Amino acid sequence: MSEKEFHGAHVIVTGGSRGIGRAIALDFASKGANVAIVYLDHRTQGQQVLNELKAFGVDAEEHATDVKDFSAIQQLFADFIQRHGRVDALVNCAGINRDRTFSKITAEQWHEVIDTNLTGAFNCSKAVWDQMKTQNHGRIVSISSIVGQAGNFGQANYSASKAGLLGFTKSLALEGARNNITVNAICPGFIDTDMVRGIPADALEKVVQKIPMQRLGQPDEIARAVTFLASPASGYITGQVLAVNGGMYM
Ligand code: NAD
Repeated sequence: MSEKEFHGAHVIVTGGSRGIGRAIALDFASKGANVAIVYLDHRTQGQQVLNELKAFGVDAEEHATDVKDFSAIQQLFADFIQRHGRVDALVNCAGINRDRTFSKITAEQWHEVIDTNLTGAFNCSKAVWDQMKTQNHGRIVSISSIVGQAGNFGQANYSASKAGLLGFTKSLALEGARNNITVNAICPGFIDTDMVRGIPADALEKVVQKIPMQRLGQPDEIARAVTFLASPASGYITGQVLAVNGGMYM
């Protein structure tokens, strides 16, 4: 039997309890990685994903920890590194949206989204960085968005957080290169998850009409792009932004 691509690797996926994060965690596990998922709520869903991960015969763990909480994340990841001795890949996928036009958006809604989507990625990346440098290997993949590239009506906070991730990615890529740490971002288009199902049906229909592929993307189509960038063979790809959007933005 041939050895799986991520056999023996230790991977952390934030936002892994559902949607895109769940698909990413499962794709890693199917390729032999031991996976820890971090998420905020939906505890039952987190437990279900844990069982799905274990079914691949890998080590799996789930943690209901807020990525906004700097100290909690440092502690959680330090424990992880102590137990496993290494961390091969981090996927920053935890994210939220609080959509309102700019006249109506509150300071709270601004900060909640920036703190989760952007500062959350900072908190998690910070917690693995020194270990990745020490082991002279690492992969960080952050899930940005088409909205971070193109902007979107009613999403100033979300768009700013996702655009911020792109600058963050390129800067870390420069700093990590000498230690074989690659840092990349993926910009999904509109993907069929609970987040997108929150868009009113008529508005969603209009969005789909604007997608050249004429359909929403599937979570596993994002997952495969993540495991491609995180794979041992992708060591020369860094600081890149990979759009997976059905041709909606080029
Ligand atoms: P989702 O709402 O289905 O899942 C979000 C996940 O993030 C959940 O696991 C949730 O527990 C976790 N999370 C949220 N806040 C958290 C916090 N403070 N701490 C820890 N975990 C937290 O969303 P999704 O559609 O699967 O989106 C996943 C990521 O992909 C998000 O970053 C989102 O912005 C991005 N994205 C989604 C789409 C899309 O069309 N669905 C498009 C582009 C980008």
